[in-house]
Amino acid sequence: MSPVEGVLLDMDGVLTVSWDPISGADEAVRRLRDAGLPLRVITSTTSRTGVEMAANLRRLGIPVEDDEVLTAAMSARDHLLEAHPGARVFLLGDARREDLERLRLVGVDEDPEVILVSGADESFAFGTFNLVHRALLAGADLVAMHRNLSWMTHEGECLDAGAYLLGLEAASGREAVVTGKPAPEAFRAGLRTLGLPAERAAMVGDAVESDVLAAQRLGITGVLVRTGKFREEALAAASGRPDHVIDSIADLPELLGI
Ligand SMILES: [Mg+2]
Repeated sequence: MSPVEGVLLDMDGVLTVSWDPISGADEAVRRLRDAGLPLRVITSTTSRTGVEMAANLRRLGIPVEDDEVLTAAMSARDHLLEAHPGARVFLLGDARREDLERLRLVGVDEDPEVILVSGADESFAFGTFNLVHRALLAGADLVAMHRNLSWMTHEGECLDAGAYLLGLEAASGREAVVTGKPAPEAFRAGLRTLGLPAERAAMVGDAVESDVLAAQRLGITGVLVRTGKFREEALAAASGRPDHVIDSIADLPELLGI
């Protein structure tokens, strides 16, 4: 493979599952560090802030600094500040307000101009969705942090916001603007902070479409891991082929020749 000078890592399903470390993730990240390869974690997880996720990874022995975690909430905030300055925003789901500073967050019954969808949680309820649906019919814009259909936990797969988003879009006739992976801007933000062009970076993820193939379309080397929500059937049915498929992140240093 062409020489990789920096690495973008998905978090959930690659480094952790249900906030427990994946075996060998600590050693693999340490070896990236020892080889002098810069890294960024690009995560769609929104239930904790980027700073909290970095601290959690360090507690698990995975050396990641606070400013090395780029969250979908941060990219949504940047998009809204630019495209919808001053708009009344209703936040649906688990995203933390600390990563959404400077947005004007309002209740769903306060005539929101933007519906901002983050990760699925207990707030994904019948009554709330009806109010969201009516706001969309009244002209509110729909913005989503990601389109993930599911994530893996120790209890099994959980249905994520992307599954609900499909229903909202079909029922309202509106299409969401997605700001996190697989949107190109999410990867470009990672490349920018790495200071590398796409062809000198690799992206490692457990979601074949939204992590790996989306990155490859920009010229980034894609690496799919067989952990987290990886399923052979999803790989077989995918719209393309990953550049590389490895059993877990523990095999990444060898793949990179470090
Ligand atoms: Mg993942």
